[in-house]
Amino acid sequence: MASIQVIGDKCIGCKKCVKVCPFGAIEMQGKLAVIDLSKCTLCGACVEPCPVEAIVLDRGDRPAGAADDSRGVWVFAEQRGGEIQSVVFELLGAGRRLAAARGCELAAVLIGSGVEERAGLLFRRGADKVYLADHPGLRDYRDEPYARLLTRMIREYKPEIVLTGATSIGRSLVPRAAVQVPTGLTADCTGLEIDPSSGLLLQTRPAFGGNIMATIKCEHHRPQMATVRHKVMEEAPEDPNRPAGELVRVSVTEADLASRTNVLETVKEIEETVNIVEADVIVAGGRGLKGPEHFAMLGELAKALGGAVGASRAAVDAGWVPYSHQVGQTGKTVKPKIYFACGISGAIQHLVGMSSSDIIVAVNKNPDAPIFNVATYGLVGDLFEIVPELTRRFKETLRR
Ligand code: FAD
Ligand code: SF4
Ligand code: SF4
Repeated sequence: MASIQVIGDKCIGCKKCVKVCPFGAIEMQGKLAVIDLSKCTLCGACVEPCPVEAIVLDRGDRPAGAADDSRGVWVFAEQRGGEIQSVVFELLGAGRRLAAARGCELAAVLIGSGVEERAGLLFRRGADKVYLADHPGLRDYRDEPYARLLTRMIREYKPEIVLTGATSIGRSLVPRAAVQVPTGLTADCTGLEIDPSSGLLLQTRPAFGGNIMATIKCEHHRPQMATVRHKVMEEAPEDPNRPAGELVRVSVTEADLASRTNVLETVKEIEETVNIVEADVIVAGGRGLKGPEHFAMLGELAKALGGAVGASRAAVDAGWVPYSHQVGQTGKTVKPKIYFACGISGAIQHLVGMSSSDIIVAVNKNPDAPIFNVATYGLVGDLFEIVPELTRRFKETLRR
């Protein structure tokens, strides 16, 4: 257990610690520095400046790579209305890889009401074990009961790695559990690997406005926790012949269900078009479209291919298309089979949202546009000529 204290016999009352504490947690009582534990975050900023080593901080750390009893890779099996969300299959795909590298089992955590039969799908998608908390009081997602249960499971079963989707539920749930455990959390990962030398989880995510990819390690605490962007990892395929694994039922008490919030009604967001995250084909437009009226032309091509319309932030900021279409760092991450980038230059903040698409077709009149660096096929020319021609040809071909 972590702790901090000032050794009274050593403190000379110099107040250096008071000045450096970013949380105002240290006060002088006469000539003695006193730490208010309700404010202290154990950041450690006061330890080094103390000239007489009077402050002792013990984070309860474990040395990196040291043998400990945490074992296994867990995936939070997010469900809505009983439907397992597709991001979970991507997490199971990544989790299987990580579990193989660590030589451990892959488990899913399923919390909800009447969701037991969904465990079968998780087994078929690669889970060796499913931890199930099934209770009518867990029908709707609520932060407090879900975080309480996840925390309890982590403390009891001690996984080494816990992954959740970087969805609105995942982003709300898992920081609460990480704080309670306590451990670190890397949000919005786009890459996960095991470091072969230390066995640590290398968690990669865009940082500093998407200009660099940062790789983050959680060396001293377990589990290593990460939220993972949707449509970045490969889904674990469903194997209908895979036998069911172990189902571990987790008890749910009334105390577990206590919450300050009640769900009165669930209102589904109505999107104008198909959800771009789920679309197999996306035809995206940028500033090169020159105005909102030309997005109809992209809509034609998208319609011919059964796809959806996406956009760069420049097009969204100009008010040409709603934000729900935006692809990129501050928009959605997509991974369609085909991504058409029309009149989009290929700024890094756009690329982080679409560069893992299977096929990228770039249409741009500037042959030096950075989008061509990631494009599978590059069409240099005027999009106002090329896009209608593509639509015509695809319609013709698909009609045959
Ligand atoms: P431009 O860069 O202006 O490119 C327009 C392109 O159209 C040019 O390459 C031009 O050659 C081409 N063109 C012009 N006319 C034609 C024509 N007739 N035919 C063919 N080609 C033509 N951007 C995003 O997209 N998504 C994000 O989520 C995002 N988040 C951001 C977050 C931060 C913190 C910051 C700082 C920026 C973010 N951006 C994001 C903005 C990003 O940096 C770029 O400014 C933006 O992506 C540029 O959009 P664009 O490619 O449409 O426009
Ligand atoms: Fe302040 Fe950080 Fe020292 Fe706690 S550890 S008293 S928060 S400087
Ligand atoms: Fe005491 Fe060290 Fe703080 Fe100075 S820096 S007041 S010696 S605890």
